Amino acid sequence: MKSHAKAVVIGGGVVGCSVLYHLAKAGWTDIMLIERSELTSGSSWHAAGGFHTLNGDPNVAKLQAYTVQLYKEIEEISGQSCSLHLTGGVMMADTPERMDFLRLAHAKGRYLGMDTELITPSEAKAMFPLMDETNFVGAMWDPVEGHLDPSGTTHAYAKAARKLGAEIVLRNRVVELTQEVDGTWNVVTEQGTIKAEHVVNCGGLWAREIGRMVGVELPVLAMEHMYLLTEPMPEVEEFNKSTGREMIGVLDFKGEIYTRQERNGILLGTYEKACKPWSPVNTPWDFGHELLQPDIDRIAPSLEIGFKHFPGIEKAGIKQIINGPFTFALDGNPLVGPVQGLTNFWCACAVMAGFSQGGGVGLALSNWMVHGDPGFDVWGMDVARFGEWATLRYTNAKVRENYSRRFSIRFPNEEFPAARPAQTTPLYDTMLANNAVMGDSWGLETPLWFAPKGSEPKDIVSFHRSNDFGAIGEEVCATRERVGVTEIANFAKYEVSGPGAEDFLNRLMTNRMPKTGRIVLTPMLNEFGRLIGDFTIAKAGEERFMIWGSSAAQKYHMRWFEKHLPKDGPRASEVRIHRFDQTLVGLSIAGPKSRDLLQKLVDVDISTKAFRFMDFREMAVGGAPCMVNRITYTGDLGYEIWMAPAYQRLVYKAIKEAGEEFGLVDFGMRALLSMRLEKNFPTWFRELRPIYGPFEGSMDRFIKLEKNDFIGREAAAKEQAAGPKLRRVSFIVDAADADVMGDEPIWAKVGDKDFGTVEKPHGYGAPRFDAGGKEVRGSNAAEGASAVRGIVDGNWRVVGWVTSGGYAHYVEKSMAQGYVPAVLAENESAGLFEIEILGHRRSARINVEPPFDPSGEKMRT
Ligand SMILES: Cc1cc2nc3c(=O)[nH]c(=O)nc-3n(C[C@H](O)[C@H](O)[C@H](O)COP(=O)(O)OP(=O)(O)OC[C@H]3O[C@@H](n4cnc5c(N)ncnc54)[C@H](O)[C@@H]3O)c2cc1C
Repeated sequence: MKSHAKAVVIGGGVVGCSVLYHLAKAGWTDIMLIERSELTSGSSWHAAGGFHTLNGDPNVAKLQAYTVQLYKEIEEISGQSCSLHLTGGVMMADTPERMDFLRLAHAKGRYLGMDTELITPSEAKAMFPLMDETNFVGAMWDPVEGHLDPSGTTHAYAKAARKLGAEIVLRNRVVELTQEVDGTWNVVTEQGTIKAEHVVNCGGLWAREIGRMVGVELPVLAMEHMYLLTEPMPEVEEFNKSTGREMIGVLDFKGEIYTRQERNGILLGTYEKACKPWSPVNTPWDFGHELLQPDIDRIAPSLEIGFKHFPGIEKAGIKQIINGPFTFALDGNPLVGPVQGLTNFWCACAVMAGFSQGGGVGLALSNWMVHGDPGFDVWGMDVARFGEWATLRYTNAKVRENYSRRFSIRFPNEEFPAARPAQTTPLYDTMLANNAVMGDSWGLETPLWFAPKGSEPKDIVSFHRSNDFGAIGEEVCATRERVGVTEIANFAKYEVSGPGAEDFLNRLMTNRMPKTGRIVLTPMLNEFGRLIGDFTIAKAGEERFMIWGSSAAQKYHMRWFEKHLPKDGPRASEVRIHRFDQTLVGLSIAGPKSRDLLQKLVDVDISTKAFRFMDFREMAVGGAPCMVNRITYTGDLGYEIWMAPAYQRLVYKAIKEAGEEFGLVDFGMRALLSMRLEKNFPTWFRELRPIYGPFEGSMDRFIKLEKNDFIGREAAAKEQAAGPKLRRVSFIVDAADADVMGDEPIWAKVGDKDFGTVEKPHGYGAPRFDAGGKEVRGSNAAEGASAVRGIVDGNWRVVGWVTSGGYAHYVEKSMAQGYVPAVLAENESAGLFEIEILGHRRSARINVEPPFDPSGEKMRT
């Protein structure tokens, strides 16, 4: 065994082997994989081996598509078969709601380049005759589904990696990880210590224990999972013989089951409601190639539905029930990337669908390690997407909830209850007393809307407008016409200070830093000139800046800030960065009467001239020391008021009392998001994401190319010079009783004009390599884009996609934001666009100027 390596991958399951293969392929050959036992000794060996491309997050879906396409490549390089069966599969809907869900998934698939098709139950039955089609109302066909041999596939990755120069050491457990002052990792194994620059945690069932070796509690939990195998079935054999085909895979939402052909019989697996965590606190190191005791009672309710829906299976004898553990993060997607607060410690774990996702995870992580960037929008599986609130018990509750809902629909207005309330502000009880319907905002309870007095504060979940519609409308109108107050504790807040603070921020941000007492809005770019952040920054003092950003991106942004802090020499102490999280909370007041209200609570002049739009000031509000920004996301006259939690109740009470004479109302996050829509304001993670350039994102006025050199400047200058191919635009949509939710296709009546160059970006910038280590661009399945050009219907063509939207209550319009070809972005003609909502194409018109206060007069008053 070598004593030094550039990178050590811990764990020889399908994920570790994929990471090893991709690192070697990218040119890092001085790498090792250390496996405790034999390859596949965690969950990989007893997997059902199914794979598919669909995922709730379109970016993860694309990486799944890459994984499926990769199998041929690793078979060729390794000479090891993966036993690939590309059968295709259907998802069965038993209710109109589930059919709506499939329509949405199908619509998304259109611009992702997926070849899904909506079909009838009878058509599904023709491909899987064991079903009773009368139980269903419709189905969606996906040709890129199938199954493979889990062990063969893991070995194919491993052999291919070895051929490219990687070393694999078996029967050798990693027992400790320590780090030298210079950053070198000591990987202490049973067979000796390896010095490594990078360590990758691919520990699968033991990923949590490996995290603990470096002081990190990863939000990952193993769950027991059962599938059964039937005896050979004559119906299956007969179908194979008469059609020459294998039976397809079937996913049944109602039964929470999946089923497919296995040899001459059937495999049927369940995601049962009465699910059970495995080893919830510690995973035993001596757990080996053994299976868990099956518990048929637990899956009986699912089987009952399964046998009703697929009567052919009930008659068959059960040959074996497999019960094995595998891991999940809170939302069911993997945990990938560098862990914030550590150097060169990487994760690729909680991969619950290793045979759908393993390849994509390996590609993204190897790009990240070798080139400093994943090369794709991997937010959906970034290890930074959960905060410190995701403790062991929180994780346990959320993973169980996620498992038991694996095949359930999530409605756009649906909030999940497990592990809540976790974090609360001092106003939590007050908000409940005000009849607030609360939502979970990165682990924090946040008011979404206020139900009318006397009615139950509860969402009726739906794809259509629901019971919050009227109440939100009232909150918006009262705020726009008088004044409203809302909690904004769920923003991210940071302080950057020290003599180097301004230079540091100038290097990271695209806009000029403000003068003392002033505020700017500024995007942040990566080296490839893609959007990785959008912030409000105030200069609070000579060497002190306050920063506000997206709550969910706190760890993601801290990781970036820390990476770029001056590290060595005299400058190392020049910049300090502090993340407040919930040690700083806030309230925002907005509306034409907000100044009069605030003036009653402060002892300084806040008239238009004394406290201008985009000013920042520290002042006592209602007697509490606060920081006040003259800016709000409503786009109205208004203020954001920030205080220590100990003062929040005092300030809120003062605002409520002073506001009485102005007709003050409480408003929630949903009203705030409705108001931003009518101002055409974008949101982080919907409109603005790392797949877009700043000019594509229509952020032109915040990009100051002529200021100092900043990260991404060169790439941004190129984007501007060439002209962005895409533009973010706002639409007014002729909707019925449902508004857009995001990811809907945008159609344009452009005849046979081909916008072939306009594609939904997925990857960007980072170079990728072929198996021989040669750089390739544009040829990889997961590269850049999803072809939208192929989708044509007469004179209509899909030209773009929606990022978010909803009902803009003050202007009484259904609105959407999204990306379209730049040549169409200013075309406000009626009849040019349609947006597909729940399978129906609705006419839509671009609205270049925001429908509310287009001149911005109100917020500047
Ligand atoms: C019953 C069942 C059915 C499934 N069906 C499917 C399916 O149809 N499709 C699908 O895609 N997925 C399926 N899965 C899930 C799939 O098995 C996992 O997604 C996949 O195995 C995860 O692989 P991994 O490499 O992350 O983890 P693991 O397979 O758990 O591998 C981790 C490896 O790390 C090693 N290790 C851990 N700690 C150390 C250490 N300290 N030192 C050295 N080595 C260490 C372990 O020995 C192990 O070999 C199923 C799982 C089960 C249980």
